[in-house]
Parts: sequence; structure tokens; C-alpha cells
Amino acid sequence: MHEVDMTKCLVLSMNEWRQQHDPDVPSVTRVNLQVGQFTCVEPKQLELTWRVAISNSWLEGAELSIEEIPLVARCICCHKTYSPAVDNAYKSPCCEHPMEDIVAGRELRIKSVDFSFTPEPSTLPA
Ligand SMILES: [Zn+2]
Repeated sequence: MHEVDMTKCLVLSMNEWRQQHDPDVPSVTRVNLQVGQFTCVEPKQLELTWRVAISNSWLEGAELSIEEIPLVARCICCHKTYSPAVDNAYKSPCCEHPMEDIVAGRELRIKSVDFSFTPEPSTLPA
């Protein structure tokens, strides 16, 4: 399932991000995501798989905030950008050219992370 794979990627990215802060473990409250329309990710479904994936992990309780990025393509005939529509088979309205150059709408990225540090007693200076 699509969203499950996406969630795995997200958790991997978050684990890498966490390593930058070693040995402290950031307490994450929110992960702000940008998800392109053309990734075909269902935000509700992604939130659900995310919650399951992070339960009993260091990320437990972190919420997903999903910002959807609209699909934008560039016509390779006249280089105009346009918003592809499903009912037009994603063709460019200017030249009726099939969609080839996608400018935006395929991203799945972590825009920012809301977090704080709750230092463990062992990490406090002696
Ligand atoms: Zn065109």
C-alpha cells in the first residue's frame, strides 16, 4: 500500500534527523509535511498509517500536518506552465501536448519539525 511505504520513508527520515541531535532525543510534537497532489497520497490515510507506525517509538504522539501542493506542469512545446486536469488527460491547454515536465505536485518532504528537548538526567552537565 502506497501510504505505508510513504510512512516508512518518513520514519526513516525522522530517524536520520534524530541522529543529528545525538545524544539528545528531541520530543517531537508536529511534523510539517508538504505532499504533492500527484503523489496520490490520501492525507487521512497517511495520518492513520503514521499514527500506527510511531506508536511505542520515540515519535509517539507526534502529529502530522499536511500541506498539499497543487500539480503544476510545463508545456514542452511553448514552455508555459499550466495546471493539468484529469478530464483533459493532463494535456497542456495551450498545445494539447501530453504532460511530460512536472514542475510541482510530486513532492513528499518534511518542511519543518516542531520539537523541544526534555533532557534526560544523564545528559545534564555534572
Ligand atoms: Zn504549450
